[in-house]
Amino acid sequence: MLGNFTYENPTKLYFGKDALSYLQDELALYGPNVQFIYGGGSVKRNGIYEKIMTVLQAAHKRVIEDGGVMPNPTLDKLYEGCRAAKEQKADLLLAVGGGSVCDYAKAVAVSAYCETDPWDTYYAHMRRIKNKIIPVGCVLTMAGTGSEMNGGSVITNTAEKRKIARVFDARVFPRFAVLNPEFTMTVPKYQMAAGCYDIMSHLMEQYFSGTDDTASDYIAEGMMRSLVHSSRQAIRDPQDYEARSNIMWLASWALNSFIGKGKSQDWMVHMLGQSLGAYTNATHGMTLAAVSLPYYRHIVKAGEAKFARFAQTVWQVRPDGKTAADIAAEGLQCLEAWMRSLGLVLHARELGMTEEMIPQIAEGVFITHGGYETLTREAVEDILQQSL
Ligand code: NAP
Ligand code: FE
Repeated sequence: MLGNFTYENPTKLYFGKDALSYLQDELALYGPNVQFIYGGGSVKRNGIYEKIMTVLQAAHKRVIEDGGVMPNPTLDKLYEGCRAAKEQKADLLLAVGGGSVCDYAKAVAVSAYCETDPWDTYYAHMRRIKNKIIPVGCVLTMAGTGSEMNGGSVITNTAEKRKIARVFDARVFPRFAVLNPEFTMTVPKYQMAAGCYDIMSHLMEQYFSGTDDTASDYIAEGMMRSLVHSSRQAIRDPQDYEARSNIMWLASWALNSFIGKGKSQDWMVHMLGQSLGAYTNATHGMTLAAVSLPYYRHIVKAGEAKFARFAQTVWQVRPDGKTAADIAAEGLQCLEAWMRSLGLVLHARELGMTEEMIPQIAEGVFITHGGYETLTREAVEDILQQSL
């Protein structure tokens, strides 16, 4: 049954091959100082940097360059971005990149004018934002996180080895996002597959929930089927526009709060993956892939009916007189086969996890209560052990 909820999503999306042509209209709505935020250099190699600079110059903006945002953006980088934004009076934070760049821009947006330490205020604790927020806009170059249309912001505190996701309210969502699937064509296969799995995980973590049988479940099943279809197409031919555009659109809708409204949500795979990521700095989607199957095999009994439904609707497993337990297990086998076909990492040791790290990684796992079962600390360690 759906509970009560309020739904608001203020992000305006421009989608398709012409999407960037709308950037000039958006820029006109903000003051002269634009903090141009990008990652480690892919935008310079694929020409997107030049395209953005041309639009910024034509709009007579004063550009504050803020490059070098690393995958899994760090707290130290956040401090640096905050100084630039405040000293140079940024009127708009323009994030050009993937989820890391977009998450970081949101972190700067809320932190630049925060009087106290932003890590303590907004990540280690979830205090209400009372300070000025700088508006964020996004030009997305990699599909997966949904950060372009949500309030999520994940920051890694390398000193404390903690990677924490904060979900901010509508004031922090990007005001606009430019989504041109062609901009994702240069994303390497490894990152593309990781992005696809991130989308799948976002869908599953809202679908496998303590609240079953909602309209959202049917919508999520349709999205999962579309993702499986398009990801296979994109792996075969990474230049397939149809596949890339479907993946980009699915990513935004998988995590813009739409399908999770009015129901409990699980998120244990992200909690496990994030703690693993804090210790290994591995690619986000791969950390999720490495822990998923052991986690789902751990909770499958508690959520048996839903896992059996998942098997039949998403993977077309035929019931044929089988028990619910067998159908559910077959569904997870299908999930595993699809994961293998995408080349996802299924063992955390390939991401740098060692057996000795397990107790510390387990210590950093935040345990949620929205799924079929609340994990004990022993269960967390056991799942990590199985993931190794
Ligand atoms: P990402 O970390 O933004 O980017 C991964 C890599 O892809 C980078 O090395 C980047 O290179 C490269 N790349 C991006 N676009 C490219 C392009 N067009 N061509 C070639 N290379 C390209 O990846 P992401 O998966 O989108 O973001 C991951 C982060 O988001 C993690 O910190 C994760 O925890 C977080 N996350 C956030 C949410 C949310 O709701 N906000 C949800 C899930 C995860 P360059 O650096 O050189 O550009
Ligand atoms: Fe994610």
